[in-house]
Amino acid sequence: MRCPVCHSADLDVFFDAGVQPVFANVLYDTREEAVAAPKGRIRLGGCPVCGFVHNVDFDPNLVAYAPGYENSLHGSPTFNAFADELASGLVERHNLNGARAVEIGGGRAEFMGLLMEAGLSEGLVMDPSSPDDSLVNSANLRIERRLFGPEDAAAGEHPTRLLLSRHVLEHVEAPKDFVGLMTNAARQVDAGVYVEVPNGLWTLRDLGVWDVIYEHCSYFTPGALRALMAQAGAETQPREAYGGQFLSAETSKVGPEADFDPAQYSADPEEAGLRARFGETFASIETRWREHLASAAAEGRRLAIWGAGSKGTTFLNNLSAEDVILYAVDVNARKVGRYIPGTGHEIISPDALRDADLDEIVVMNPIYQAEIASMAKAAGSSAEVTVV
Ligand SMILES: [Zn+2]
Repeated sequence: MRCPVCHSADLDVFFDAGVQPVFANVLYDTREEAVAAPKGRIRLGGCPVCGFVHNVDFDPNLVAYAPGYENSLHGSPTFNAFADELASGLVERHNLNGARAVEIGGGRAEFMGLLMEAGLSEGLVMDPSSPDDSLVNSANLRIERRLFGPEDAAAGEHPTRLLLSRHVLEHVEAPKDFVGLMTNAARQVDAGVYVEVPNGLWTLRDLGVWDVIYEHCSYFTPGALRALMAQAGAETQPREAYGGQFLSAETSKVGPEADFDPAQYSADPEEAGLRARFGETFASIETRWREHLASAAAEGRRLAIWGAGSKGTTFLNNLSAEDVILYAVDVNARKVGRYIPGTGHEIISPDALRDADLDEIVVMNPIYQAEIASMAKAAGSSAEVTVV
């Protein structure tokens, strides 16, 4: 398969994740439905030129986003602090007071709400999978459940100064078309662009092995994101954020589409080594957890994971361990009482920990370790808190 970002090399397959749930972030109302969740194959290929990583077996027909997709992170204090700071930074850098912003994706408009609190005057969120309960349109904040079109950039009471997209591009099979649509629209109205994705380099370098999910057909390292944006006229220097887990590209002005020279955007040579070692690394991390869970089972210990999102779903589907991992805990009330795709683990709230009688809680994302440890303690749990 030709690299969909730089088109200058074929992708080399370096990791086979096997068959995994198609949606790591769609939760099910019954255990039976969860266990029967649709699955798809994941084989990651990397581009030797720009460093882009893609699931070469991705089938877009399996992935149709619908309400029920739940990947909001806005329940966590750590995440909220990050989002608040990002919102006020964007308002300041793009002069959004007296202006309009359009977000592609954006679910319940939680982030757009933060931009408005930080001084943005008008916001439009375009998201076909925005949940029903979010359609609370006010005069200045609208959610439309449809795809973004170029005409949406110009409509509105105030001048549009920012087009943004957070955690959408990694779901898109043709990232070049998606970014081109954004930058063309931004160019027409002289708006800036902000794109944020999970950092593919974090997955490779910091062994975020549980981040490989079917919904994410694309993984961007800083070099690949820079190459992608540059082709669409947005020269950016992608920045890592959120403990290195996120990657963002931002510009206040989109230039003309330039002739693209892949040689200028070649990836850090270290990335090829990271890809080559990834399968081995994954296997050794998986083996360590299998051993840990087997000894926990032998001792009759009761475990839960904390984090019913991408990482939790992948972790459970690779290790299953239904006899020793009893629950998934999550702060998002919309997830509570529902079930993890593939394995059918029940999701409980932190409040339910008091009665769950757990010996160990495995935190799925290290960035939340401190807040989870204190929430678990506050909920009356004396379980040991460990990190994946
Ligand atoms: Zn490439």
